This record gives sequence, C-alpha cells and structure tokens, in this order.
Amino acid sequence: MPYEHISTWRREDVVKGSLDPLQGSKYRQVDAHLHVVNFLQETPGGDALMYYMDRANVGKAVIFGMPVTKVWAEYDREPPDYYLANDARCYYYGYTDVLVAEMYRALRPEHQERLYPLICGFNPTDRFALRHIERLYEQYPDVWSGIGELLLRHDDLTAFTYGEPARANHRALWPIYEWAGDHDLPVLVHQNVTSITKSDHPVYLYEFEEAVREFPRTRFVFAHCGLSRRVDAPFYTKMVERLLEQYANLSVDYSWIIYDVAICPGGKPQEEWVALTERYSDRICLGSDLVGKFERLGPELQRYDVFLDRLSEAARANVCWNTAERIYGGNKGKVKTHQPKVVPEWNFERVTAFEGGPVQLTSTP
Ligand SMILES: [Zn+2]
Repeated sequence: MPYEHISTWRREDVVKGSLDPLQGSKYRQVDAHLHVVNFLQETPGGDALMYYMDRANVGKAVIFGMPVTKVWAEYDREPPDYYLANDARCYYYGYTDVLVAEMYRALRPEHQERLYPLICGFNPTDRFALRHIERLYEQYPDVWSGIGELLLRHDDLTAFTYGEPARANHRALWPIYEWAGDHDLPVLVHQNVTSITKSDHPVYLYEFEEAVREFPRTRFVFAHCGLSRRVDAPFYTKMVERLLEQYANLSVDYSWIIYDVAICPGGKPQEEWVALTERYSDRICLGSDLVGKFERLGPELQRYDVFLDRLSEAARANVCWNTAERIYGGNKGKVKTHQPKVVPEWNFERVTAFEGGPVQLTSTP
C-alpha cells in the first residue's frame, strides 16, 4: 500500500525541477510489488499501466490484484475509497484474479512480457484455497508467475476482514506452500512482524518463520520485510539480516513504508541498511506497493535513487532488476494443466473414458 506522504518529494509547479520525480528513477527497475486494482477492485487498466511504467522508467512489474474488497456498508453515507476510509468490513474477493488475468490478456504480447502476474484472491484461512489457485491455472495457464501478495497479519486490515485472522502459519496455507514448492513458484507474503502496540519484541514473526522453516523448498518473499504502519521492533535491521542469513529460501522486497521509516528516513540512507543491501542484494528487490494509482510510479520509485546511489554497481543491478527477474521471471507455464478435453465423436453406443474416471454413456431408453 502506498505511503500517503512521500517525504522526499514536494510537488511545486513553480519550482524548477520539482516535477522531475514524475520521470521515475534514473535506474531502470522492475517494480516487484504493484497492486493493479484498489480496495474497491477498480483499475485504471493495462494501457494506463504501460503508459506510466514507460514514463517512470519501469521496465517490468510484478502485478496482482487485492485479495479483499471493502464493503460499502448500509450505514455509511459516503462510499469508502480505501480500506481505512471508515469502519466498514472487508471480505475475500476471488474475482480480483480474473480482473488481473483479463487485463493481462488484453495487452499485446510484448507488453505481456513485461508483467509477472500473481494469484492472490483467496481466503488464506480456507483449506479449500488451493483449489482456487488450481482453477486459475486451469483457466489462464500461461498468465501466472506465482502467488501473492497474501495479506496475512495486517493490523487494521486483519481487524476489518471477516473471518478468523489470517496468519503465515495457518494450516490452510500448508498445501499452498507445498504446491508452490512442487512447482518452484514464489509466494509473496505480507505478515507484520509484530502488532502495533508490541514494540519490545516481534510477536508475529515466529508464525512467518515457522512457514519458511517448514517449507525449505518453497521460495518466500517477505513483503516490505514485515513492516507496516506503526509496527516497530527492536534491532529491526539485525532481524532482517538474521532472517536472510538463516533461510536460503527467503527473499524480501523493499516497498511501501519500509523505505521512509527504516531504510532512508528523511531522505538519509542508513548505513546499516546500505551494508545489509550490499551483502544480500541477490535476495532483495524493490517495489512501489502502489494500489492502482499508476501516475505515482515516478515519484514513488525516484525517491529510491538517493539510496541506490550508495550501492555498488553490482548490488544496485541486483536490487533494481536481477533479483526480481530471478524470483518472478521464467515462471509462466511452469504448471502443467490438463490438456483441453477432446470431446469424442458423439456416439451413444460407446463407452467413453474421460479424465478423472470412466463415464458411462448409454443410449436414451
Ligand atoms: Zn502490497
């Protein structure tokens, strides 16, 4: 989700150069975290996405919908425009993946190649959830590049969403992690490391670690390193470093508020984050975490420049491009779905075997 205030950018039309950020980063990037629909499941569409990617120097993007949608409650006079707009609840909305797939399929092949769509629209506390993923792969076999962003521990959003709290170690997710491992597909996870009032220890981190530990074959991506608004944990940089050290199947993205809150507060790159990024650049990618508002791609991504300037050329190339490409690229078509069923010539006298077991066809009496 976008940070509402971009601390390093002020738009003043009369000041020379103040609109430069609209052009995006000077380093060409893969935006590894971009919601193409908002919390009302609205999208500006694929053509707008391509236009603003070009304008913001974004070569490729990892895109997904929004697994939950906000209710316009009967008692609210105004429709909400964000999940925090009012107290109304949210519910899981599977059609979000169809919106993404159809947007993708409407684009020209050379534009499709620039996008890595992920599946996210299922209830992560439902043990049937894997069926949703399988259906989407069945219907759009060549579209998907993985799974995510799963919205698990997410402070206010967790509280707003109907059903039990989603969490990374929920057993309903076990078959999905297993399946992702079987098909070598990444799973992008939003899980706050702690709750908003517990800043002395990360109360939810163990849930995420349990999943990463139990599924060493599955490639996990920790969205914005488990940080969220008002979420704070001691020795946070050390914690991220320890996770990357300990779990070879784990990568992270720098997106949303982590940049302004931890990595580069007030536009000043923190030395410990420069060092960490330098060391683990092949496991770190960058994203905007925008929710629909593609026109903000430029300013969101250009603000990373002051930090990227501090990295070695190799590390910068990794976080801007290579890591995301390694995680999300080359995944389309990995899942072999059933071949389209060939309906045999209609013959009432024949017994015809379909996949999934023989079906007896008999002539009408
Ligand atoms: Zn996100």
